Order: sequence, then structure tokens, then C-alpha cells
Amino acid sequence: MSVIVLGSVNMDVVLSVEALPKAGETIAASAQNLYPGGKGANQAIASARCGAPTAFFGAVGDDDYGAVLSRNLEDNGIDTRGLKVLAGKRTGQASIYVSATGENSIVILSGANHDFVFDDDGGPMPVPAGAAVRLAQFEMPLAAIRAFFDVPGGDAGTRILNPAPALPEGRPLLDLADILVVNETELATYAGAPVNGDPSPEAVIALAHGLLSRPDQWVVVTLGARGLVAVGSGDKISIGGLATEVVDTTGAGDCFCGALAARLSAGEPLSDALGFANAAASIAVSRRGAGSSMPTLQEVVARLG
Ligand code: ATP
Repeated sequence: MSVIVLGSVNMDVVLSVEALPKAGETIAASAQNLYPGGKGANQAIASARCGAPTAFFGAVGDDDYGAVLSRNLEDNGIDTRGLKVLAGKRTGQASIYVSATGENSIVILSGANHDFVFDDDGGPMPVPAGAAVRLAQFEMPLAAIRAFFDVPGGDAGTRILNPAPALPEGRPLLDLADILVVNETELATYAGAPVNGDPSPEAVIALAHGLLSRPDQWVVVTLGARGLVAVGSGDKISIGGLATEVVDTTGAGDCFCGALAARLSAGEPLSDALGFANAAASIAVSRRGAGSSMPTLQEVVARLG
């Protein structure tokens, strides 16, 4: 297996409303749509569509959403032997209201995601070995992420951590990763800086430098439409965003991480893999949805020209 993703899998239940409800208010929705989501599942789909043999470790409940989401991962060619179905648990769910002006409010039930362990009463599930790249985010128990990255003998391959959502208590795990991928909000949280609306490029680079804990580590900061900057201890890579007609930015960061993992697992140098991920994410923002918006290898190659 080239890429192993440990992460969340959720059903996004999206209700379209005229305006977001106030406390105590009851309003009518004009439509309901279900979208497969969860940062882990989105990233695994991006990795698989970008051509990497991909395995997924995570958990769903023994309910209808769990069955649908599991099948969706399989339909994307992902090895789901590491996806646990937890009896009596609810599958993770995000309830999302989207207003006519595009504002949203989101409530997440982490459900089965938060009950994932590698070794439990259902029998041991060994931490997988031998993958070129491991990829995790912060919608899972931090102990599971530590077990996933802290591999005895150091045979973990390249460890990519996307510490999202920003969790201050997860800060110690950042040092275990070979490559960190953060957006500007996460960067500010982990660097202990105030979240500033539009920090200068110099300020971003200085904050990213502050996160480096080893000479061989990289911090990649995604900058939305402005692309990305990657900072190593003696090196820096800047790539501008590709002009795109934006339809829905949900899952842009997830697409970026999955595509980056796929290309690194294929042996591509970091600078080329970052350029590929930037192009992949620019396609994802031009489409609706999260998992469903992830591009294929051929689409990204065509975008790069
Ligand atoms: P999200 O939370 O919406 O998934 P994020 O905050 O994690 O995203 P961003 O930095 O907004 O991550 O975007 C990730 C990457 O997606 C960027 O580095 C860039 O490659 C691409 N991207 C995002 N927005 C745009 C845009 N408007 N045009 C082109 N590319 C974009």
C-alpha cells in the first residue's frame, strides 16, 4: 500500500435555508442534501483518485450512514479493511445549515470516529506497516494518531500531519510528523500567535519556522487562493494559487493533503508534489461538495498543462 490514511468519516447533512435560524427560531429548509465527508475520508478519496493505492483506517457506526460511507470509500478503490464498524455507535455526522448568501453554521457529532482505537475488545488491529506515506488529521483520538505515527523501528514512511481542526492539546503530536500541512488559522494557533486577518508573507514564514522541531521537517502553509508556502530548516518553496472559478471551497485543504500524499508516495520530489497538490485543490474548489469534488490524476495533469 502506498498511502495509509487514519481519519474521520462523516455524513454531511446539508439543509439549505433562506437565513440561518436564530436561537429559539423554527424555520423551513428548501432542500436537504447528503454528502460523504469527514477530513480523513475526503483525503483518502483525493489520494486514491490521484492514483495512489490507498488504505483507510477509521470507524463508523452500525447504521445506514455507516454502510453508505463505507461503500463510497470502496467505490473509490480504497482498501477499507481498517474501517471498523462499531456496534451500537452512531456514524459521525455534520449537520450544516447553508443560507442563501452562502453563510453556514455547522454542528458535528463525532460519533464512532472518537471511539477508534487500533487495539480493542473486537480483536487487535495492528498499526499497519510498510506504507510509503501515512496521513492523519485531528478529527480522531490523539492517542490513535500517536500510535499511527510513533512506529517502533522508525518504519513509518513519510508522516504527513494535517492538524485540523486546530487543537492546542494536540501540539505535542506536531513534532512526530515529517511534513505538517496547516492553513493560516491553524498556523496561528500552533505558533501561539494572534489570528491576524491577512498576515504578511514574512510573518507567515516566521511563524512556520517556529513550528519546525527537526532539521528534516517541513511546514506547509496553505494560503487559499494565494497558493502555499513551504518552509524547511534551510529551504523555502512558494507556489502561487491557480486562477479558478470558485464554486465551493469545502474540502480544498483535504484535497491538497490527499494529493500531496499520493505524489510523495509515487516518489515525486516535494516541490513537484506541492505543485500537483495546489493544482488538484484548485480543481476541487471549482466543484460542489467535498469528497465528490476530488479530481483524478488525469484531470490534475491536464490542469498543470
Ligand atoms: P478548507 O477548510 O476550505 O478545506 P483550508 O482552509 O484547509 O480549506 P485553504 O488554504 O483555504 O485550506 O486551501 C487549500 C488549498 O486549496 C490552497 O493552498 C490552494 O492550493 C487551493 N485553493 C483554495 N482556494 C483556492 C482558490 N480560490 N483558487 C485556487 N486555489 C485555491
